[in-house]
Amino acid sequence: MTDIAANIGGVKGAMALALEGAGRQADEARLVAVSKTRSVSEIQAAIDAGQRIFGENRVQEAAAKWPALKAANPGVELHLIGGLQTNKTRQALELFDVIQTLDRPRLARAIRKELDRGGKDGSVPRLFIQVNTGEEAQKGGVAPGALADLLELCRDDLGLEIQGLMCLPPAGAEAAPHFALLAELSRKHGLSRLSMGMSADYALACAMGATDVRVGTSIFGVRQPAV
Ligand SMILES: *Cc1c(COP(=O)(O)O)cnc(C)c1O
Repeated sequence: MTDIAANIGGVKGAMALALEGAGRQADEARLVAVSKTRSVSEIQAAIDAGQRIFGENRVQEAAAKWPALKAANPGVELHLIGGLQTNKTRQALELFDVIQTLDRPRLARAIRKELDRGGKDGSVPRLFIQVNTGEEAQKGGVAPGALADLLELCRDDLGLEIQGLMCLPPAGAEAAPHFALLAELSRKHGLSRLSMGMSADYALACAMGATDVRVGTSIFGVRQPAV
């Protein structure tokens, strides 16, 4: 059986070591527990162990699991870490506190439009722009060369505050160059948060400036393959 509480403790310990080794404070990076494919009872076990921030990659799945979990556990925060279709913008804004995957003008405009409708009871979602650091055709994220224009549209034309950047390096590739590129882009644009690092490389990400690491497998165990 997976000991979710012990695993969370282990990940936090490794994060603290990596942060300390890089001369950063232990609270400079937060742990986003990635709960995609996990049951409500597994998620509740993580909450009972003190975990407060979770990530899901699909709006539909989050809509099935999270309204009840959130009602039962005030203060828990949910991040969208998977691609968002424009037609699910309203639902995503209702469910998620943070959207990490803003990656195109059309989606930015759809978010602005929903906020203007007053859909989300006063609270504005926190937004990250996903950058496709590997420039992979099949992957979400804005190309590094198009980031400046997207940021300008969000900030100047739409009045959307962008907190940080997120990346998902190509599978099998060395992560460090991607983390370095994301950190450089965030410095250049004056952004404060960096979402990078997963089970295989969250410690490296902490050493390279991550403020949000997204960890699933190291907390909940190996996922069943998607059907
Ligand atoms: C699944 C997922 C993760 C977590 O991956 P693990 O290897 O299980 O830690 C992180 N980020 C995104 C965007 C994901 O889809």
